[in-house]
Amino acid sequence: MCRCFVVPLFHLHRVRVLDMEGALTARDRVGIQDFVLLDAHTSETAFLDNLKKRFSEDLIYTYIGTLLVSVNPYKELDIYSKKQMDIYMGVNFFELPPHIFALADNAYHTMLAEANNHFILISGESGAGKTEASKKILQYYAVSCPSTTLLDNVRDRMLLSNPVLEAFGNSKTLKNDNSSRFGKYMDIQFDIQGDAVGGHILGYLLEKSRVVHQNHRERNFHIFYQLVKGGEEDLLHQLGLESNCQHYSYLVQVWANWCMLGQPLDIQHLLGVIASVLHLGNVQFEPDSKGYATLNNSAELLWVLSPFTVDHAIYARDALAKAIYGRTFTWLVNKINDSMENKDSSCKTVIGLLDIYGFEVFYVNSFEQFCINYCNEKLQQLFIQLTLKSEQEEYEAENIGWEPVQFFNNKIICDLVEEKHRGIISVLDEECLRPGEATDLTFLERLEEKLDSHPHFVTHKLADKKTRKTLERGDFRLLHYAGEVTYCVVGFLSKNNDLLYRNIKDVSLQVSTHVASQFKSSLLGLTDILMSKEPWYVRCLKSNESQQPGQFDDVLVRHQVKYLGLMEHLRVRRAGFAYRCRYDVFLQRYKPLCPATWPYWRGVAAEGVEVLVQHLGYLPDEYKMGRTKIFIRHPRTLFATEDAFER
Ligand code: ATP
Ligand code: MG
Repeated sequence: MCRCFVVPLFHLHRVRVLDMEGALTARDRVGIQDFVLLDAHTSETAFLDNLKKRFSEDLIYTYIGTLLVSVNPYKELDIYSKKQMDIYMGVNFFELPPHIFALADNAYHTMLAEANNHFILISGESGAGKTEASKKILQYYAVSCPSTTLLDNVRDRMLLSNPVLEAFGNSKTLKNDNSSRFGKYMDIQFDIQGDAVGGHILGYLLEKSRVVHQNHRERNFHIFYQLVKGGEEDLLHQLGLESNCQHYSYLVQVWANWCMLGQPLDIQHLLGVIASVLHLGNVQFEPDSKGYATLNNSAELLWVLSPFTVDHAIYARDALAKAIYGRTFTWLVNKINDSMENKDSSCKTVIGLLDIYGFEVFYVNSFEQFCINYCNEKLQQLFIQLTLKSEQEEYEAENIGWEPVQFFNNKIICDLVEEKHRGIISVLDEECLRPGEATDLTFLERLEEKLDSHPHFVTHKLADKKTRKTLERGDFRLLHYAGEVTYCVVGFLSKNNDLLYRNIKDVSLQVSTHVASQFKSSLLGLTDILMSKEPWYVRCLKSNESQQPGQFDDVLVRHQVKYLGLMEHLRVRRAGFAYRCRYDVFLQRYKPLCPATWPYWRGVAAEGVEVLVQHLGYLPDEYKMGRTKIFIRHPRTLFATEDAFER
């Protein structure tokens, strides 16, 4: 069933009324709230003008049909209050100005009406507003949905899970002061009455390397600063910590505000582990007379003795710190899941919320960016498949012929990364199986052998003369759907191995190997989860790079509109049929317009609709009769009918 492209007529009627209500000047000022209502041949410039016009009036949301486009305002807007939630509750999509609550509400009511599962895919680059959008949706469900049972605890915990996970999984980056360094998929579970009764979170690939290394002007995970800066004196004393961030070499700057965890967790133990990571970071090694590393100060909470060289010892220390942090994060997610678990089997349906790190390009891009950008490729692929698939399925089911719109299909890039034997992940895994022989550079050479004529892959060696100047020898460049990214191969092998030295492993942890492969399979798992649900989309756009309110950077926004495929999405909606409606509903609404159908049509509804539209003078090209619905190509045809109706 294709919901994305259905606009029930009564909604359209209201849109029309809303549109007509304001004088032309007002409409000019605030732009148009659904791009489908713009002129048929909307150019990219007109598209951007509309976004900009609305942005300047603090109207950050605009629809493309049921897809919601959101432009980050970088300032608090008074549009998320309980009062606003109440306004949107139970109101059909196009009856009110576009809003994240409208999308949340329509997903919710459709889920209840059809008793099936849905998901909301929130995408956009780093800093575009995905996490904020997902929080608003969660708030909406937790605050607005009816509460007929005593499950407020579960709701509270759902809301509290956000600050807790953000403390441990978010960090300040160059792109975003509160950047998610892990992917999050959350199922919100509803019972048959529509109560939010439980939740379950899946976390994806935490950027553990941040624990031991942060790029210039970036920070470690918030929790470290919150603990050191905000922890009470007694606590810090117990943990052997000083309240001075500068004291810890894993921390570079101060992050304020210790936020309440509010979870029934063993907080003391948890903070002890976090403290141990900080202590680990201060463990220093010096070479003894034989060149082996010796500890020159011993940490009290954890310690390591081994016959390593100093370099190896530092490597092992950092690997251990990352592994401890990674495990702690997983443990935390499990604890949160326990606290939100719905023990009552009456839970019927779910709405999944996907907020995953956005596409990112830095001056130097490493293994982490490679994984993050691959993830975004997969989500884009899913969007393409679902958008085209659902549209085509509906036309097929209704026996309607149509010409598909040409999309840039990024499958070629997904294959480049994940194909067996030839894809980048495969090659990386193979190299990781040759310890002692393989290096980051042999990995690059293997890629060059296997991918030498691939149109989306280039290296210094494979590049033409002009491009070569822009590449270092240890780089490879991928032409992602969102743009070019140059990756430096240094660290790819060790990060993929996520290697822990054997004796450390024996003491406390297990080795986890080949993260990129694990990541690939967890992404495939996620794709399966999503494919079984009905999709809703929020496309977040970043308004400017400097995170300033009121600034709309045309070039930046245009670039995002392009690579997110928003124009194509609009064209798909237009190339097909902008509106469709079940015969009985259409007839019921418009039957007063034709003497043959008023007050009753006694025959089959489809035939009544045919008589009706003939009477209204619809041209053959303007509509198609499907098996159960009428399909109308242009909004103007329907507007004319609506006008006749209003007269
Ligand atoms: P990343 O991929 O790095 O995690 P993101 O897309 O999740 O990025 P957010 O953290 O949601 O980005 O947003 C970045 C910042 O932008 C927020 O901390 C907030 O200051 C601002 N912001 C985002 N959305 C809104 C909004 N709707 N209203 C006001 N400010 C917003
Ligand atoms: Mg985020």
